Amino acid sequence: LTERLQNAMRKLRGKGKISEADLRATMREIRLALLEADVNFQVVRQFVKTVEDRAKGSKVLEGLNPSQQIVKIVDEELTKTMGEEAVGLNKAPKIPTIIMMSGLQGAGKTTTVGKLALKLKNEQNARPLLIADDVYRPAAIEQLQTVGQQIDVPVFEMGTDVDPVEIAKQGLKKAQEDHNDYVIIDTAGRLQIDEKLMDELKNIKEAVHPNEILLVIDAMTGQNAVATAEGFDKTLDVTGVVLTKLDGDTRGGAALSIRAVTGKPIKFVGQGEKMTDLDVFHPDRMASRILGMGDMLSLIEKTQKEYDEKQAQELSEKIKENSFDFNDFLDQLDQIQKMGPLDEIMKMIPGMANNPAMKNVNMDPKDMDHLKAIIYSMTEQERTDPDIMNPSRRRRIARGSGRPIQEVNRMIKQFNQMKTMMNKVSKGNMSGMENMMNQ
Ligand code: GDP
Ligand code: MG
Repeated sequence: LTERLQNAMRKLRGKGKISEADLRATMREIRLALLEADVNFQVVRQFVKTVEDRAKGSKVLEGLNPSQQIVKIVDEELTKTMGEEAVGLNKAPKIPTIIMMSGLQGAGKTTTVGKLALKLKNEQNARPLLIADDVYRPAAIEQLQTVGQQIDVPVFEMGTDVDPVEIAKQGLKKAQEDHNDYVIIDTAGRLQIDEKLMDELKNIKEAVHPNEILLVIDAMTGQNAVATAEGFDKTLDVTGVVLTKLDGDTRGGAALSIRAVTGKPIKFVGQGEKMTDLDVFHPDRMASRILGMGDMLSLIEKTQKEYDEKQAQELSEKIKENSFDFNDFLDQLDQIQKMGPLDEIMKMIPGMANNPAMKNVNMDPKDMDHLKAIIYSMTEQERTDPDIMNPSRRRRIARGSGRPIQEVNRMIKQFNQMKTMMNKVSKGNMSGMENMMNQ
């Protein structure tokens, strides 16, 4: 998702103004990016419409920095779609707070039970009791016990031959006796939603009245995540969602769809298999992550202010062909004067920062105008074919520009050094150079 969105944004970079056609094209890219990321199509439609309306309404088309504005709108709308604010756990007025897990098999319920218990323990000094209510898979109880041992939290179990509703009731009773402040009920899942699973969960819910019914959803399941969420929510009326496996190669679409489709907040995200890998879900951070924001914004800023993308590309071509001449140098001087010192720019090229050749191209901004004057005194032929620069030409240029001959010589030498260096960089590390030039 991120890559596609970033590509869409990149196309806007370097444009001083964005036409309606540009906006439409960008919105199409964003729409495709979201669909590709398995975001529900209705959510996508609504999202794109909102962003487009806002972009038009906010006079973004005439704005100073239009692509930045669009990025900002997309970022804000992503945040809104995912719920705006972080939402905490519901709490019972009187202990214990009852948390019940639900979700398909393999979604990460048992793991999340442990992670959540540890979080409560660490952050609130809580004393949770875990209830082993998955009686179908023989290893399920054992798995929860292992988790309990890992985090040093007690587990209540009654084996596999007792009705899960009864286990939940007995477990709750035990927690009341022991004054546990939380009970977390680990339940069974199926590979698909079926009536029996739903009935069982409904019965447990009616028996113990959980304060929190968390739906655990595997973020990697893409489009199915939405259907799953809808199915569980319809029967159970869940109070929150935990999105697991966000650490994997997930496309992140689930985070966008689930809130929009169910209206239920994502409360936590699982970002790994370890017990500490559970985080409160922050919609704004997720939006930034989706956008790859930090990186992109700085790129946009740098580019849009000073640099014409096309020019940069042409330059990059010239360097590749080794046809960089004094006219290009003049252009570069203009760019550099707008952008900042040359050595700063050069440092952005990978491998360049510590290159000893850097010292030789170290240019004082104060000398820039002198350099330009020297180039202005060159004939067109001299500018495009720097190799013809013989002593008499140099003397004429010095006179024309009013600069000492030594300075003309030094400048031509620097130019040649710079050209050689650029060529070297371009051969040795074209991708680095291109990155810099295309910014
Ligand atoms: P359950 O069937 O819903 O109880 O699922 P489990 O808790 O047994 O988890 C199924 C698998 O997913 C296990 O291998 C977990 O280690 C793994 N898992 C759970 N949550 C996460 C997560 O946030 N990230 C990753 N990478 N793996 C997870
Ligand atoms: Mg389990």
